[in-house]
Amino acid sequence: MKDCLFCKIAKGEIPAKILHQDDRIVAFDDINPQALYHKIIIPRKHIATVNDLHAEDADLVGQMVLSAANLAKELNIAEPGYRLVMNCNPGGGQTVYHIHIHLLGGRQMAWPPG
Ligand code: 5GP
Ligand code: ZN
Repeated sequence: MKDCLFCKIAKGEIPAKILHQDDRIVAFDDINPQALYHKIIIPRKHIATVNDLHAEDADLVGQMVLSAANLAKELNIAEPGYRLVMNCNPGGGQTVYHIHIHLLGGRQMAWPPG
């Protein structure tokens, strides 16, 4: 997608602090962290929202979750724990329309979220 911010980060056209990348997944620091650790995990494939996922994307989403869990281990926050979030559409608080997982940790997460 030409004008997608996260596609541009995945292609290296916009700088970001990249933590992990492979042929399908990229992980980087969130620019406006909401916790001590706030990382973003995206697929290289442009998918606008969770509503746009199809059955053939199931493996890709699984890889995103596994990447998030591996990152949490590398950051030493697997214990005590962390939160994974996917926002969908304005009602879910989504602002960048390329699916992503937020990995949040390093502080106690409240439930329910605000
Ligand atoms: P959303 O609100 O769509 O769930 O999350 C989008 C996230 O992308 C936000 O947490 C926001 O801080 C982050 N973000 C927005 N623009 C940029 C950017 O240019 N670089 C990086 N690294 N993160 C960004
Ligand atoms: Zn995109």
